Amino acid sequence: CATKEEVAPRMLSCALFRTKSYFFRKSLTPMIGRSFGSTVSGFESRIATVLGGQWGDEGKGKLVDILAQRFDIVARFNGGANAGHTLHVDGKKFAFHLLPCGMLCKDTLNIIGNGVVLDLPTMFKELKDLEDNGLARDDNLKISDRAHLLFKFHKVIDGIQEDELEEKSIGTTKRGIGPCYATKAFRTGIRVGELMEDFDAFSIKYLKLVKTVQNMFGGFDYDTAGELEELKAFRERIKPMVTDTIFLINEAYRNGKSILAEGANAALLDMDFGTYPFVTSSATTVGGISTGLGIPAHNIDCVLGVVKAYTTRVGWGPFPTELTGEIGDFLRSEGHEFGATTGRNRRCGWLDIPVVQYSAQINGYHSLNISKLDILSTFKEIKIGARYILNGQTLKPGEMPSTLDGLEQCEVEYETLPGWQSDISACRTFDELPANAQAYIIRIEELTQIPVSWIGVGPKREEMVTRGFDNNYSKSA
Ligand code: GDP
Repeated sequence: CATKEEVAPRMLSCALFRTKSYFFRKSLTPMIGRSFGSTVSGFESRIATVLGGQWGDEGKGKLVDILAQRFDIVARFNGGANAGHTLHVDGKKFAFHLLPCGMLCKDTLNIIGNGVVLDLPTMFKELKDLEDNGLARDDNLKISDRAHLLFKFHKVIDGIQEDELEEKSIGTTKRGIGPCYATKAFRTGIRVGELMEDFDAFSIKYLKLVKTVQNMFGGFDYDTAGELEELKAFRERIKPMVTDTIFLINEAYRNGKSILAEGANAALLDMDFGTYPFVTSSATTVGGISTGLGIPAHNIDCVLGVVKAYTTRVGWGPFPTELTGEIGDFLRSEGHEFGATTGRNRRCGWLDIPVVQYSAQINGYHSLNISKLDILSTFKEIKIGARYILNGQTLKPGEMPSTLDGLEQCEVEYETLPGWQSDISACRTFDELPANAQAYIIRIEELTQIPVSWIGVGPKREEMVTRGFDNNYSKSA
C-alpha cells in the first residue's frame, strides 16, 4: 500500500494531467459555424458505435451501412429480430431485423454478439433474401456461442403477455425478445454453444424449458418435435459461423482491425434508462456494447448518436412533443413512419431536445447524425421542443423524470424557426443546404452542445450531407 506522502504527489500530477488534457482537447476543437467542437465522421475510430438517440427508427441502419464500408467488423450487441433497419442501396431495398447492416459489404465481417437473442428461422430468412439478391454472405457472418437462442414459444409468450395487457400493451414487436431475455435472466435459457454440443443433451434441456414456460403461462399447445427437427437442421448450417466472438473481436482489435458496434432500438427504449415499462428488454445504450460484445468500455473511442430531425415513437407511453393533428399525419405519411418490423403507425412530433440531451448524457455522443431533415422541407415554420417545465421548474439539460406520470406532466417550451421550403435531397455539403436548414442544425448543436457531422437528406445511401470531411465512403477511399 502507498503511504499518504507517496499518494499526494501522484494525485497532484494526475490533476495537472487532467487539466492539461482538458485544455489540449479544447485547443483541438475548432469552431465550425457557431457549433461546438469539430465534427467526427467515425471513420478514424478503432471502435465506433452508432446508437439511437430517441425512441428508435432514427435511421441508424443507413449510417451503419455507410460506415461499414470502411470498417473491418460490424457487430450487433443487443436485441434480436426486433430491429428494423431499412437500407436503400443501388436501387434495392433491404430490411434487416437481426443481421448486422454490414452484411451488404462483402469485405466486412459481421458478428452477432453474445448480447443478442438469436431467432434462427428469421436469420436464415434474411440470409436467403440476400442470396436472392445475389449477395450470398454465409461466410462473412459469425455468431457468438454465448448468444441465447430464441425459440418459437418465446413469441407465443410475447403474444399472451401483450394480449393480457390489452390497451395498456407495451407495443412489443411480438418477436419473443422480452421472454427470451427473461429466460436468460431466470437462468433457464439455452445458448447457441449448447446447440452445437450433443443434440440429445440439448433436446433434454429444451424440453425441460418448454415445460417450465408452459407451467408458467397456463399451458399452451406446442410442437416440440417440429421445432427440434428444425433446430437440428439449422445446427448443421450454423456450425461454421458459431465461435467465441469475444475472443475473435478482441483479437481483431489487438491486430489493428476496426470495429463498428451497431445499436438496435434506442436510448429511450433502454431497459434501465428508457420510459419503463414501454421499453425493450436489452441495454440499448453505450454500456450494452461492453456487456453485449465483451469489449472493454474504455476502448470505445467514438459514439455517434442518430437523431431524427423530428420525433417518432411506436406503441404507448408519454410523448411530450407529440403532434396528433394534421402536422403529425403529414410527418407520418411524408416520412413513411410505419414500422419496418410490424408495419404499425409511428406516432410523430417535433424534435424533443430534452430527450436528446438525456440520451447524450448517457451515451456521451462525440457527434450526431441528424436524419430525415428532408421531411421538414415543406414547412413554413418548424418548432423545436427546447425545454421541459415540471411543476413550474425548468428542468436542466439531462434531467428526465423517471416515471411515466412525471413525463406526462412535463410541459414543453418550444422555439419556432423559419423553414427553408425547398428540396434539399441533392445537397451533399453543409454549405449547399439552405441558410434556414443550416440554422436549424446549428440550433440543435447549441441546445445539445454536440456537433452534427452527418445530415440525412433522403433514404438512399448517397443522400447524406457530410460536414467537415469528404463524402467518398468506400473502403478504397
Ligand atoms: P433504424 O431502425 O434506426 O435503422 O431506422 P428505420 O430503418 O426503422 O427507419 C428509418 C427509415 O427512414 C428507413 O426507411 C430509411 O430508409 C429512412 N431514412 C433514413 N435516413 C433518411 C433520411 O435522411 N431521409 C429520408 N427521407 N429517409 C431516411
